Amino acid sequence: MTNSRVAIIGGGIGGLCLAQGLRGAGVDVTVYERDRTPADRLQGYRIHIDPAGARALHECLPRELWEAFLATAGKSGQDFGFLTEKMGRLLLLETPHRPDPLDNHHSVSRITLRQVLLSGLSDVVRFGRIYERYTREQDGTITLHFADGTAETADIVVAADGGNSRVRKQYLPHAPRIDTGILTVAGKFPLTDETRDLVAPRLWRGPNMVIPPKGCGMFTAPQEFNDIEEIKYLGGSVPTSGIGRTEQPGALFDNTGDYVMWVFGAAGGRFPDGLSGMTGEHLRDTVARMIAGWHPDLRRLVTDSTPETVSLLPIRTSVPIAPWPATNITLLGDAVHSMTPMRGIGANIALRDACLLARALSGEGDPVTAIAGYEAEMREYGFAAVRRSLMAARQFVNESRLARGGFRTALRAAQRLPALRRRALS
Ligand SMILES: Cc1cc2nc3c(=O)[nH]c(=O)nc-3n(C[C@H](O)[C@H](O)[C@H](O)COP(=O)(O)OP(=O)(O)OC[C@H]3O[C@@H](n4cnc5c(N)ncnc54)[C@H](O)[C@@H]3O)c2cc1C
Repeated sequence: MTNSRVAIIGGGIGGLCLAQGLRGAGVDVTVYERDRTPADRLQGYRIHIDPAGARALHECLPRELWEAFLATAGKSGQDFGFLTEKMGRLLLLETPHRPDPLDNHHSVSRITLRQVLLSGLSDVVRFGRIYERYTREQDGTITLHFADGTAETADIVVAADGGNSRVRKQYLPHAPRIDTGILTVAGKFPLTDETRDLVAPRLWRGPNMVIPPKGCGMFTAPQEFNDIEEIKYLGGSVPTSGIGRTEQPGALFDNTGDYVMWVFGAAGGRFPDGLSGMTGEHLRDTVARMIAGWHPDLRRLVTDSTPETVSLLPIRTSVPIAPWPATNITLLGDAVHSMTPMRGIGANIALRDACLLARALSGEGDPVTAIAGYEAEMREYGFAAVRRSLMAARQFVNESRLARGGFRTALRAAQRLPALRRRALS
């Protein structure tokens, strides 16, 4: 199988992790990415990598890139809080720092993670290639057609082109992606020595879920960067084009400053009309009005956010479908099982897919049999995660005061459990 030419559509988290794994195994792999440069659409929110995601990265990345990932991740071992809208503590789940990084949770900048994943792949990733459709040839190979009129041939095609996957629309046209009717607005509160004193330490010590009596919710999470100047060993292997601040390797990483990210969500009907046309400043003011009765520190996170960082995100999800027969086209990550961001697991599942598929495509057997094995496993955990994530999204905006009250009571009861049992809950 190592003679097969593998084409990956999409150089996001999953596609690049797969490319790293296949390249490490000596497989002929090419990634086609629509962005023109690594710095297009720079979106700097933090992303939470759990132990499953960390294990996938560890398996697929060369040692120096795994170390770069660890060096550029924020602090691990942060406790997770559940709070009322008045900042009352419902439950604090302790997640102690563990000596083995494979057992830890990591908070990384999305920009930085992409840089790490791109490192050493300059001859593999083709930027500015917008995939449009594929055709099957008589010899079983696949021809990929791009928006610039060019075409490429591959033996195996992997769709890693995210939630709006064009490959999925052609390959699995019956696999829908639907609107949940939930809207979220996210922003960043800059964290400096001065602003730190303006809000309760709980808001910069770890992530929190804010659970008011009904109808909406807020997630907050601090992102504090390590000193990236020390990551010298990436040197020339890091693609330097496009990021732009300087040509120094360190500047490739997101060093826009520490912040607390907040995400406010509610059913669309709770927001005023015209949300999609609003500027960051208007979105911020809208959320501030919607949480007018909340604790001043939570309101401050919103009102003191930088307007340019505030954006609207309608929540969509895939719908699990029945198994399909395996071929030499397969899918990973959001392209097949996109989910709501509510549990912060989509990227981790995409990494798990990438690792599993890298293993499958690096073996010596028949590729379609290997893909069938990968897809059977991926569908099971991937679609289970879609269901859990949708449930979490619905709980996040639950309109039933009774159900919310019950949930808050259950969290308070869990807080009274001994620490070990609380940890088991997490
Ligand atoms: C606000 C928010 C917060 C989140 N937080 C977390 C978190 O903390 N932890 C977590 O695990 N998950 C999180 N997620 C989910 C996570 O971002 C996704 O699940 C993850 O990015 C999926 O990775 P992917 O590689 O499948 O797709 P993507 O990362 O979306 O990559 C797809 C790539 O394909 C490219 N592409 C698309 N179309 C084409 C085309 N036609 N031709 C060529 N290239 C194309 C895109 O440019 C992109 O580079 C969050 C999501 C959101 C929205």
